[in-house]
Amino acid sequence: MEGKNNEYKAEFSNIERLNERLKLTLAFSKRLQLSTAVCYLRFHIPLELLHQKDVEIETILMSKMITRLNRSIRDIDTIIRVNRTDFILVIADITEDDCRVICERIIQACSERYTVDFHHVSITSNIGICMYPYGAEEPHTLKETAKVQMMEAEKSGENCFSFFNGELNEAAYRKMLIENDLPYALKKGQLYVQYQPQYHLGQRRIIGVEALIRWHHPDLGEISPAEFINYAEETGIGNSLFYWVFETVCQQIASEQNVPLKYSINLSVNQLLLDSLLLRISNLLSQYAVSASQLTLEITENIEVYTVKDVNERLYSLKEMGFTIALDDFGNGYFSISDFLKLPIDYLKLDRNFVFSLLKNKNHVGVISPIIQMAHNLNVQVIIEGIEDAQQYREWKNLNCDIIQGYFISRPLSSVVLTASIAKIEARVEEKS
Ligand code: C2E
Ligand code: MG
Ligand code: MG
Repeated sequence: MEGKNNEYKAEFSNIERLNERLKLTLAFSKRLQLSTAVCYLRFHIPLELLHQKDVEIETILMSKMITRLNRSIRDIDTIIRVNRTDFILVIADITEDDCRVICERIIQACSERYTVDFHHVSITSNIGICMYPYGAEEPHTLKETAKVQMMEAEKSGENCFSFFNGELNEAAYRKMLIENDLPYALKKGQLYVQYQPQYHLGQRRIIGVEALIRWHHPDLGEISPAEFINYAEETGIGNSLFYWVFETVCQQIASEQNVPLKYSINLSVNQLLLDSLLLRISNLLSQYAVSASQLTLEITENIEVYTVKDVNERLYSLKEMGFTIALDDFGNGYFSISDFLKLPIDYLKLDRNFVFSLLKNKNHVGVISPIIQMAHNLNVQVIIEGIEDAQQYREWKNLNCDIIQGYFISRPLSSVVLTASIAKIEARVEEKS
């Protein structure tokens, strides 16, 4: 933890240093009427290295990469690291054409294979460039525009760079705002949780809810987690979000002791494998006098094959503590049935894509039915997500699915609305189905 704090401090002073250098370079460029390039560089580290336990490998890799980066530019240029994967380069007295050559050189140098601790690793990068004075004149605008342009470059593929040409892309600008503001969203109290009911077909009642995180952004309004969860995971913010949701749900359960609902919480493998996980969640459970049996943990399916063993061990510990385990978004990733058989799970959540595939082609019953059958043989209950109308509801009921989640049952609701609506929702489902 201490290491992390120091790292953030280092980044903070880096940003101050960057601002200082940029201010000086721009003053100098203005006086001598020179062009300066502000380049925003992002490295894409392979997913397996983003994994907690490979922090050391990542550090070695980053230092090798920084060496290559330094060799690709002139001594007078500035490189500042702004976070785990991002750097800003300030290249003074340069034309757009020469800057193009430098960007090609950087991308080429950094993408050559690395050998770290007997692993061969390849990384890719993207660069966005904003030129002074043509693209922008203010230091802040230059940096932001270069970052937005990096996101444009990402759209063209790996190892691409892109110059700002005077037209700011709205989608990229939104993405940049989201990335910039996410680290502060929790502290500023902009996040909240909604709960989506899960309806048990056999018992004909709502047996649980899934906690879904929401972000109310002061300028952009409501933002779906689909827009920020991946970035949160890449930057490690996902871990604090998880603990925050976990605590919020515990508070909610503590305040609603008489409502017999099971609460599901989403977590990624990053959080699942945190060394601190078991201790921190047991502390939260005791703090709010909540039993683990009131909670389901939903793990997303994109579990890399090499982590299956670690995941398996961790899931057994959580089950021992009393949690229920669900495997989320099944059918969306690369998870094989044999991997699935090894995991101690209680619920299998089929991805919403199965609903679409069944709509398009009724023959897909031949694929879906055996999955459900197999789950049942293993004593695993099946949840389908994204059911939006009565026809889909009946189809999945006939397929012998156990639990239905989707707008047909209910949209995600605030905690206050949820408790007041359960009976009404159950009556409506009964009537419409
Ligand atoms: P998920 O866990 O698969 O959650 C289901 C998503 O489907 C939710 O989107 C939900 O609002 C949406 N949904 C439910 N029923 C329907 C329907 O009938 N039609 C349509 N079109 N959509 C439906 P949401 O809330 O935007 O969340 C997206 C994803 O973000 C989640 O997918 C989950 O992977 C992630 N997420 C949400 N909250 C958290 C969280 O607290 N922690 C983590 N790690 N991930 C979260
Ligand atoms: Mg989920
Ligand atoms: Mg899901």
